[in-house]
This record gives sequence, C-alpha cells and structure tokens, in this order.
Amino acid sequence: MEKREMIYEGKAKQIYSTSANDQVIVHFKDDATAFDGQKKDQITGKGKINNKISNFFFKLLEDNGIKTHLIKELSANEVLVKKVGIIPVEVVMRNIVAGSLSKRLGIKEGEVLDKPVLEYYYKDDDLGDPLINNSHIEVLKLATETDLEEINKMTFKINKILKEFLRERVIDLVDFKLEFGYLDDGEIILADEISPDTCRFWDSNTREKLDKDRFRRDLGDVEEAYQEMLKRITGRGEL
Ligand code: UDP
Repeated sequence: MEKREMIYEGKAKQIYSTSANDQVIVHFKDDATAFDGQKKDQITGKGKINNKISNFFFKLLEDNGIKTHLIKELSANEVLVKKVGIIPVEVVMRNIVAGSLSKRLGIKEGEVLDKPVLEYYYKDDDLGDPLINNSHIEVLKLATETDLEEINKMTFKINKILKEFLRERVIDLVDFKLEFGYLDDGEIILADEISPDTCRFWDSNTREKLDKDRFRRDLGDVEEAYQEMLKRITGRGEL
C-alpha cells in the first residue's frame, strides 16, 4: 500500500488516495477553524493529538461491536482507513445542553438532558450546514429510512460506550458529531473522526472545557486541553 495524490482537503484534514482503491489515508492538520471558517489559527500538535485520540476511540468502538473505517495508524499524523461514500449529514448527539442547542432553544448551557437529543445537520458549506430532520434526509435522498434507523441505532450505542468510558476518566461527554459512510456493498460504517474538535468534553468535577470551545471562545491553553484529553483517555500524555 503506497500513498498517492491528495484527493480532498478539508479544514482540519487531508485525504490521500493509495495504491489500494478501497483504502485512503487521512492526514490530520494542525489548522483550526470555527464559525464557518471565519476564525482561523494553528494549534501546535493538534494533528497528532487528534489522530491519536480519534484512532483510540474508533478502536474502542470496534472492540464494542461498532463497524468503523479504521484500518491502522500509519504515523503520528496519518491513519489508513476504508474508503467510503460519505453521507452528507452531520449526526449530533447531546447529553448536556451547550452551543447551538442553548442558543436555539434558550436553555442554559450545562443543563443535563433527561435523555440524549439526536440532531442532523446537512453538510453544505454554502447553506451553512442547516439543521434538518428525517423527512428532509429522505426527500433529499441523503439516506433511506432504513439506513437512517441504522445510523440512529449506532449513534445511541456509540454515545453509551463513549459516555461510560469517559465517566471513569472524570470527563462528561457533553455532545459530539459523527459522520457515516457507505462501503461499496452498501454497509454503513462510522467514518470521519472523534476528537476534541468534534466533541465537547468537560471535566466532571470542575466543568473545565477540554475541547475546541477553548479555541472558539478564546479561553486559551487549547493545546494543553487537547493534551489533557489524550492523557485522560490513553493514560499517556506524550506523543
Ligand atoms: N460539531 C462539529 N462540526 C460542526 C458543528 C458541530 O464537530 O461543523 C460538533 C461540536 O464540536 C459539538 C457538537 O457538534 O461537539 C454540537 O455542536 P453545536 O451544534 O452546539 O454547534 P457549535 O456551538 O459548535 O456551533
């Protein structure tokens, strides 16, 4: 398996084709963006930390019966994954109120929800990733009703696995965003990443934010927070 040309570049990752046409390489960048790319910066070491954290979570999920794109970590910044047709829906699950839910519904940030809230956003930069529902997903033919049921089931299961794992590490899983994709045979698997860029992690005791909100809200110590998450999750801080 040999690395070939870059086929896609997003805000935080690059994707490279390989000599195997069903496998691609994901390269995690140090670039950070927020508010539809209006706020930009570099966070030293972020690419390596997110690669480690995301691969760790994907392995944990695989061990608990969730099919993911993970094949193997190749280097500090790179991971080999199964190539999928990404479903252009960001699946968000929330356990505690924060961010856009707080703004949209006027509920105070930090309120613990009675049960997890599931949301979908249409991945379309020009439209600003609007909130959509299951009817929109069907009408836009983004996924069938059966596939969406499978995605929902997987998302609730992932929430349970991650929440319980993190609770033991004194971290509250506030919310997170997932992306799913189709393999050639139509099977749906978890793709993209699970990292402090795509989740909200709060220290259970102090409620200190250990995620991208440190960057979005100019709270400082962004790299330190990401390192702290790596340490809590893997028991090792250094890279
Ligand atoms: N999220 C993400 N990518 C996005 C939008 C949201 O990974 O394009 C994650 C975000 O980090 C948080 C969760 O999804 O963990 C819910 O985000 P929210 O809707 O509150 O939006 P935000 O306040 O980040 O704009």
